[in-house]
Amino acid sequence: MPRVGIIALIQESNTFLPGITTFEHFRQDLLLTGEQVRSHFADAHHEVRGFFDGLARANFEAVPIFAARALPFGAIEPAAFDSLLKLMLDELESVGRLDGLLVAPHGATVAQSHPDADGYWLAKVRQFAGPQLPIIGTLDPHGNLSVDMVNATDALTAYRTNPHIDQEQRGLEAAELMVRTLRGQVSPVQAACFPPMLINIERQCTSEPPLDQLVAAFEEVRGHAGVLSASLLLGFPYSDVDEMGASALVVTDGNLPLAKSLADQLGEAMWSGREGLAGTFISVEDAVAQARGLPGPVCMLDMGDNVGGGSPANGTWLAHALYRHQLGPSFICLYDPAAVTQAESVGVGSRVRLAVGGQTDDLHGTPFVAEFLVKFVGDGRFSEDQVRHGGITEFNQGRTAIVETGDGLLTVMLTTRRTPPFSLRQLTAFGLDPLAFRVLVAKGVNAPLAAYQPVCPTILRVNTRGVTMADVTQLPYHHRRRPMYPFEVKTTWQR
Ligand SMILES: [Zn+2]
Repeated sequence: MPRVGIIALIQESNTFLPGITTFEHFRQDLLLTGEQVRSHFADAHHEVRGFFDGLARANFEAVPIFAARALPFGAIEPAAFDSLLKLMLDELESVGRLDGLLVAPHGATVAQSHPDADGYWLAKVRQFAGPQLPIIGTLDPHGNLSVDMVNATDALTAYRTNPHIDQEQRGLEAAELMVRTLRGQVSPVQAACFPPMLINIERQCTSEPPLDQLVAAFEEVRGHAGVLSASLLLGFPYSDVDEMGASALVVTDGNLPLAKSLADQLGEAMWSGREGLAGTFISVEDAVAQARGLPGPVCMLDMGDNVGGGSPANGTWLAHALYRHQLGPSFICLYDPAAVTQAESVGVGSRVRLAVGGQTDDLHGTPFVAEFLVKFVGDGRFSEDQVRHGGITEFNQGRTAIVETGDGLLTVMLTTRRTPPFSLRQLTAFGLDPLAFRVLVAKGVNAPLAAYQPVCPTILRVNTRGVTMADVTQLPYHHRRRPMYPFEVKTTWQR
């Protein structure tokens, strides 16, 4: 029975944050070896579960080795990255002979010591495994694909949806490709194309125009004879690294020239659509004015404080604006451990003056100060069984408080752990009815849609300031390629 190892290392690194990702961040989220990996992902809508299921269907032996994930945040500190790699490679060595490896890198992981962290660890794994062992895997489409990632692996396939609701299917696809490869039915080779452009985060929803056109072009290429996979990498603009940007990746059955020409063709399609893929940037004031005439609940996406993109989760621009303009009952979630402690000290049913959020820096707004009624204090765990972005089933936002301004205009959920808004259970598990609000603030751009679209007839992406602000031309890059569209508007592509 063929034995296939499974390795996952997933983190999206926002290099514009002063904070760094430590080993403890991985320990808090996910750091598993051996059989623990299998049991953790058994019920998750995640690519690692897809790996296990795909191998099991073919009666291949899955050998879980290592899985680590940390919530998107700053670059990984050097010692933490070394420790993760050592653990991964020690575990890999300990499992003995393998016939193949299934890998799940994110693609936008940055270590301070290795800007192309994914390329680095995949190359280490390749070095250990030797040139013949098939290494096949998945990518998050927010990955900033690098030549090293492509060279270290035989085939990579990215999720096709944003919000990511097909992670499990892509894991299954990678496992099936591994099975066919080990049976000698196919021999995957891959090539990538890197047009010098980025796709603005505001335009990264795969079901909305104009990106849906590009998504269709990739789908069409997947139908070509000899093509095993074609992936649109949207890129992650908040990693200031050389490989930051959008790219196309095509896997064919042993035909490298075909892979190259199809990747180039898709790269051309991306390049010719670049202007439509730049953002439009609705200001906070415009969003509030628009929301007035639109059916509720209105979901306002706080793009500058995109928790899934690594932001602090305590930005207050929208809290201030919604309250000032009295739009109606509004909901916002803020990471604020000190305010949770204060609410807890007075207890449910009491009133207390709090200054919530806005503690990070000037970029994310000032604290919102008001007298609040404490409505809930307790453990912030909740579970999600539906397919949602990220494939997370168990959420833990730590001790949590829900407070409301005296006039009922603003309900604030305060957490002691940064929690991305990927699940509406974040409200319903605590007795909050999403339909009771005029505006729901979700600190994200596209990822929250899987949860919020079913209840919000109106979605507004708001160009708030913050470390994940949509207008990336305002961010201080040092390492990106130059020239690059839209930073240098007149960029020409030297093919
Ligand atoms: Zn992603």
